[in-house]
Amino acid sequence: MSDKSRPPVNRSRLWRHVNAAAAEGVFKLQVCDACHKVQYPPREFCSGCLSDALTWEPVSAGGTALSWTRSHSSVSRFFKDKLPLHVGIIKLDCGPVLFAHLSMDSLQTGARVQIMGRPDKSGQTVFFARPADTGTADEFSMIIKE
Ligand SMILES: [Zn+2]
Repeated sequence: MSDKSRPPVNRSRLWRHVNAAAAEGVFKLQVCDACHKVQYPPREFCSGCLSDALTWEPVSAGGTALSWTRSHSSVSRFFKDKLPLHVGIIKLDCGPVLFAHLSMDSLQTGARVQIMGRPDKSGQTVFFARPADTGTADEFSMIIKE
């Protein structure tokens, strides 16, 4: 049974690199040394060329909103107290697409956003998207810390 006071933790061991980068306040993803593809989520091998020569590097945190939704339900006991959740799918300028919590109640498709990682109550990094020219890191953390 899940602990209602903590968010769910189901991440691969590679996620520790994401957590370490977020703790430094840096947005890092895996970059392939062979083909230079930036990939997310973390994997043991490059999804472009299958090389295992992957390096964690700072990458652009800018991106474009592909879609978003407001969720009024959750199977997680932790998130049931935080509804509605505003989440979006963001296409990063460096290539990958990721899922992020939104700092706003709505988002235009095609809007420019900035991604940042912040630790949740379990110490796992959660990605947040904010409009590219507004917001602070602290306001994002409130969503998962309360
Ligand atoms: Zn590659």
